[in-house]
Amino acid sequence: MKQFDYIIIGSGIAGLTFALKIAPHGRVAIITKKNLAEANTQYAQGGIAAVTKPTDSFDLHVADTLRAGAGLCKEEIVRTVVEEGPARVQELVDFGMEFTREETISADGERFYSLGKEGGHSKRRVLHAKDATGREVMRALLAAVERTPNVSVFEDHIAIDLITTHKLGQDGGDRCVGAYVLDRNTGDVETFSAPQTLLATGGCGKVYLYTTNPDIATGDGVAMAYRAGVPVSNMEFTQFHPTCLYHPKAKSFLVSEALRGEGAVLKDLNGREFMDAAHPLASLAPRDIVARAIDSEMKRTGAEHMLLDITHKPAPFIIDRFPNIYRTCLEFGVDISKDTIPIVPAAHYQCGGVVADEDGQTELAGLMAVGEVACTGLHGANRLASNSLLEGLVFAHRAAMKAIKEPQLPVDVEIPAWHSGDAEDSDERVVISHNWDEIRRCMWDYVSIVRTNKRLLRAHKRVENLREEIRQYYWDFKITADLLELRNIAQVAELIINCALQRPESRGLHFNMDCPSQDETWAKRDTVTRLSPREKTEIGNT
Ligand SMILES: Cc1cc2nc3c(=O)[nH]c(=O)nc-3n(C[C@H](O)[C@H](O)[C@H](O)COP(=O)(O)OP(=O)(O)OC[C@H]3O[C@@H](n4cnc5c(N)ncnc54)[C@H](O)[C@@H]3O)c2cc1C
Repeated sequence: MKQFDYIIIGSGIAGLTFALKIAPHGRVAIITKKNLAEANTQYAQGGIAAVTKPTDSFDLHVADTLRAGAGLCKEEIVRTVVEEGPARVQELVDFGMEFTREETISADGERFYSLGKEGGHSKRRVLHAKDATGREVMRALLAAVERTPNVSVFEDHIAIDLITTHKLGQDGGDRCVGAYVLDRNTGDVETFSAPQTLLATGGCGKVYLYTTNPDIATGDGVAMAYRAGVPVSNMEFTQFHPTCLYHPKAKSFLVSEALRGEGAVLKDLNGREFMDAAHPLASLAPRDIVARAIDSEMKRTGAEHMLLDITHKPAPFIIDRFPNIYRTCLEFGVDISKDTIPIVPAAHYQCGGVVADEDGQTELAGLMAVGEVACTGLHGANRLASNSLLEGLVFAHRAAMKAIKEPQLPVDVEIPAWHSGDAEDSDERVVISHNWDEIRRCMWDYVSIVRTNKRLLRAHKRVENLREEIRQYYWDFKITADLLELRNIAQVAELIINCALQRPESRGLHFNMDCPSQDETWAKRDTVTRLSPREKTEIGNT
């Protein structure tokens, strides 16, 4: 058994920031399922929203966030994140992050940060490192972690499930005391124990057939917390990014909203600008409106994609401002300074997640959740662009401060080693790949940008059947990373459908054609899903 003071599951912006803050106070394990850098954070392009100029204000950033959230944000949480944001961004700079600065030098010899503008923001306030902000965030944080004593890193280790005192059959209040973790290289399951565990496992884009997310985004944290009896909220609000590069060989390449912030416009295949009719902000309308308009144009015309056009801007500007997008599109034969870019919408961000408070604490003692895995009330029914990296920074800090101030008691229960029973190596791996494809296709066809009750119920039935098949397979065969992820995407798919079925209205990212308007009795109401006491006991016994 591996014993630590703090276990961190996930090495994106949330996990690494927490690690840097907590390491002076105890032994830290970072468990991450691939290499340290492979996280959604690494792929973030646009940047981090924060108020850094006198022409901007906290009130404006709060108002923009609330407007995007369509009546479901928790205003006190939004204010906390917005007001603490600049200090956390400065700490990131102190860790070594280099944001792009303006060319011009001010009277006092300073070069201000270059600020990008994205959909839904009333001001330019997005700090960025050209168009590859996430890569620079990870470079800076990983270098800082490397310099920090007390941190042990476990790459290629995938957390299977949380260990709770309830699952161990202990009486009294339930508490998280660690996690069982699969070492992908040896196939062994190891036991990690600690009084405090942080879930920083990111989102679940891989639940859908088309996504901007990398392969790690399989909703493991949400699924593990749910199985441990922790409430999960607002999973119906999946943000679909309107502009993912459409090319048979381009896997999940995002074409940042910042292009539209710099004047790129959406067009149909005949070159007609169709966003003017959809929203006063046209191509810079909020993401849900843009994604829905694209989806509707594609369905209406039968086209497989739409176009994004920035060719009216000078080529040197495009190449300097968007070097990563320019280079990548060129690899696929699209010169964005001369050609329109073929795009489709794709699942991008999970607004709901594990219910966590203003300090990242979940209902289960000893378990924190921070970053995309958590549902804190910041995003409500729709995330404002570039607020999520900010969320990771602010809540990682707050969770660390709370963990230092109010430590949990040491783990005093005996934790049995993982028992794989009679499980054998599978001779039917095809079941796993087939079910992966089936769930993702089913979610795309029935539970994506535009929903109906009938489609949701159909999806529910299919996912239910698949979950039963996976459950059987899980107990019969030795676990592999693929199987664990399959089990988790199936679980998360069910949670998304259940939340969508609970909400009898359309709000923010959740659009149901059978109830296309907002129902004011559902303003400020979250959908919540959790195991019943009976289900919790059954899971504890297996
Ligand atoms: C293409 C793209 C562009 C984006 N652009 C922006 C942007 O410009 N601005 C913005 O604010 N947001 C952006 N986002 C969203 C933002 O990147 C994420 O919300 C944020 O990075 C999430 O950080 P995180 O630390 O919570 O999770 P992640 O960065 O996703 O990290 C999750 C970590 O958990 C690990 N993990 C998961 N499950 C397990 C398990 N079972 N066991 C062990 N480890 C596990 C993963 O390997 C990974 O290390 C973008 C997202 C994408 C995909």
